[in-house]
Amino acid sequence: MSGSDDTPLMQQWREAKSRHRDALLFFRVGDFYELFHSDAEEGARLLGLTLTSRNNGAAARVPLAGIPAKALDDYLARLVRLGRRVAICDQVEDPALAKGIVKREVTEVITPGTVLAEGLLSERRNNFLVAVVPEGREGADAFGLAVLDVSTGDLTARKVPAAELTAELGRLEASELLLPRALETSRLLVREAGGPAFTFRDDWMFEGDVCSDELLRAYAVQSLEGFGFQSGDVSLVRAAGALVQYLGEIRPAGVGHLKPVKILRPGHVMLLDEMTRRNLELVEPLRAGEEGGTLLAVMDETVTAMGARLLRRWILEPLVIPEDIWIRLDAVTELHGSPKLRAGVRDALGGISDLERLAGKVGTGRVAPRDLLGLRRSLERLPAIRDAGGEASSALLRSLTSDMDCLEDLRDLLGRAIADDPPATLQEGGVIRTGWSTELDDLREVRDGAVDFIAGLQTRERERTGISSLKVGFNKVFGYYLEVTKSNLDKVPDDFIRKQTLANGERYFTPELKAWEEKVFGAEDRIGQLEGELFGRIRAQVASEVTRLQDAGSRVAAVDVLTTFAQVAERLGYVRPEVHTGFDLEVRAGRHPVVETMMPREEFIPNDLVLDENGWIVVLTGPNMAGKSTVLRQVGLIQLLAQVGSFVPADAARLPVTDRIFTRVGASDNLARGQSTFMVEMSETAAIVHGATERSLVLLDEIGRGTSTYDGVSIAWAVTEYIHERLGARTIFATHYHELTQLGDLLAGVKNMNVVVREVGDDVVFLRRLADGGADRSYGIQVARLAGLPSGVIARARELLSELEGTHTHGGEGLGRRGAHRPGSEAPPDQLSMFQVEHPVVRRLRDIEPDGLSPKEALDLLYALRREAKD
Ligand code: ADP
Ligand code: MG
Repeated sequence: MSGSDDTPLMQQWREAKSRHRDALLFFRVGDFYELFHSDAEEGARLLGLTLTSRNNGAAARVPLAGIPAKALDDYLARLVRLGRRVAICDQVEDPALAKGIVKREVTEVITPGTVLAEGLLSERRNNFLVAVVPEGREGADAFGLAVLDVSTGDLTARKVPAAELTAELGRLEASELLLPRALETSRLLVREAGGPAFTFRDDWMFEGDVCSDELLRAYAVQSLEGFGFQSGDVSLVRAAGALVQYLGEIRPAGVGHLKPVKILRPGHVMLLDEMTRRNLELVEPLRAGEEGGTLLAVMDETVTAMGARLLRRWILEPLVIPEDIWIRLDAVTELHGSPKLRAGVRDALGGISDLERLAGKVGTGRVAPRDLLGLRRSLERLPAIRDAGGEASSALLRSLTSDMDCLEDLRDLLGRAIADDPPATLQEGGVIRTGWSTELDDLREVRDGAVDFIAGLQTRERERTGISSLKVGFNKVFGYYLEVTKSNLDKVPDDFIRKQTLANGERYFTPELKAWEEKVFGAEDRIGQLEGELFGRIRAQVASEVTRLQDAGSRVAAVDVLTTFAQVAERLGYVRPEVHTGFDLEVRAGRHPVVETMMPREEFIPNDLVLDENGWIVVLTGPNMAGKSTVLRQVGLIQLLAQVGSFVPADAARLPVTDRIFTRVGASDNLARGQSTFMVEMSETAAIVHGATERSLVLLDEIGRGTSTYDGVSIAWAVTEYIHERLGARTIFATHYHELTQLGDLLAGVKNMNVVVREVGDDVVFLRRLADGGADRSYGIQVARLAGLPSGVIARARELLSELEGTHTHGGEGLGRRGAHRPGSEAPPDQLSMFQVEHPVVRRLRDIEPDGLSPKEALDLLYALRREAKD
């Protein structure tokens, strides 16, 4: 529509909207935020708002939807969760003073990756905005990533090969991606419901020169070398610069708590792909809603929000450098071994508020009086951590604590300056402590004296006038008054001046009262002003120490996580794993950390497992429900926990450092992505086959299930051979195809294990115990019976099974001798023949009594059989 017939209000809206086209514009009108035009329609759809229309002066009617200004945060939270961007257009002058239409401006843009409001952020996890820049121009094989948590100021940059981009973005659980338009059509970036919001910006904003200028300006430095950028790091500079530039637009007031860019070189942490993260249920349950069922949920006994966020990151970034793992384990060992040390540290952690996010608030000028009180209380706790840790002997604990800067100067400042019980907002007054400013104390004295005087007025005026019900009162609009009820109006003296008439009385003031009132108001104005100034100065002083605050925050977080590991180990009976640089994996009485917590104590059956040169590939068989998947994941989780630096749920564990943990769990639910299950399964398997090395741990659960049995067994067979011959990765392969147990005889590195069940009559009892050797059969029918299939079906299945097994005994000799089978040689046909079900025609033929048939019947039957045989 044209703008010519717009009202001034709509012109204002249009102006603001033109600068924030991709955002929903929340336009303040009185007590409401209004959405207009397509924003209104989208708001109605996303938020369930009622769509109305506004008569726009002339003929046009404008679609309109509104929310009460009070409810803004709730709506913002919902939109941010939906990945939507919102621009807040506020009234920037007092409507009472405005000449003509009230001036409005966009004061804040809220995007999923840049939100700061407390209500919109989860305390216990980081909120990452990630800029992604392709290395070079066309068909990039690597990307530069810059990762920022605005709430804490953490900024890192790293390079990621194209093949790992999805895994890395998934691990970061980014809320928003910042991308050059050139990537708009990239197939590497898939938009998904619940995934990050995509923000595309013009390609020039990602140019090297533009971006390095941005960085130089943001950090007020002359050169980027100090950050550790090297000549090949252009894509990192571009990503970090674009990110900082974007941030500058979102928060024009500046961000004072941005930490220096930290460059992460590859090889420090283990890459975890999406399948592994999901299948091992590290931080999110496989099925939404089952919140308790994750490793994070079991491990999270952190005391502080900073610790909770760091624990989540550590779980998603297992270490791969042995020394890094060892020093964490040493610290945990010490904290585990000394309950007194642990209790002392955890006790001190108890009173510490979120220093990292507080630094963020300080840096963006949003710090409230109570934040500073929280800061003071937190700083008071730091020395206890330093002192406790100072007595420790483990290197990591010592280095985190013994030279910790406890910011005593800031603590003293806040202790002297901020009241013990400050109000929520500065405007309420009483933030600054008595004794901090003589001027302020004097003013308060004047005010309080005047207030006292006025309070005493009631008694004096009652005596003077003889009106025993006379009251002195105060309200915001009229100030102080003397109130007299109707029945006493005749006693009112001449010097009372009427101020306000009520239903059953009158309110008055006197010249004396007026004078004292002015004294109170005058003092209060000055107090407000002065408190504002003083608070501003204190805030600035805190802001100038933001780096020290951040440093203390990150130490506290690490100490918290380390004590949490010790605490969990103590509570759940974990042991220190022996992490070594060899290849053998040996777990004694290992348990699944999550499954064991879901059942009563002692009910979980621990199991041993060894992967060494006598068998580094285990073919794990056993009927459905026996416990194969549980064992498989248990090994993965134990390995991961060890590399995170935690103790593990076992009686003893010797574990190699792995470079990757791969998991593939059969027939899961990627249908939502429009790929067939089997296709997904195969591409995931392909990823494993391409990525695994002899240092990897590969966990395969039922691969090949999504296709016919022939296909399935053949693929599983070939994959196992390939891993054995080419990759040498430690592998556990859970399968219900017990045909695969033959691999144990054929390949030197493959051994069979099974989860034992006992047959009792027609039933099976699950023992959950691992044993050497393959399962002899799959007990599928017994399990089906347990599951409640009708007895007729069970009986028929038994009949079929015995027929099949009968056929099988006529089958060939098997597959040759151990070692005789090389990869790539012909597929073993005979052992598959057991799958051949007898054709119904054959069965009918067998049942025919030829002597009892007439020639005509015989001929009809022959035709019928031929028909059957044909289809
Ligand atoms: P499978 O993969 O062989 O079909 P699962 O590993 O899914 O079997 O295990 C089935 C169920 O058995 C699990 O949900 C769990 O409740 C129980 N279970 C598995 N392992 C154990 C164990 N070691 N001790 C106790 N219960 C177990
Ligand atoms: Mg299973």
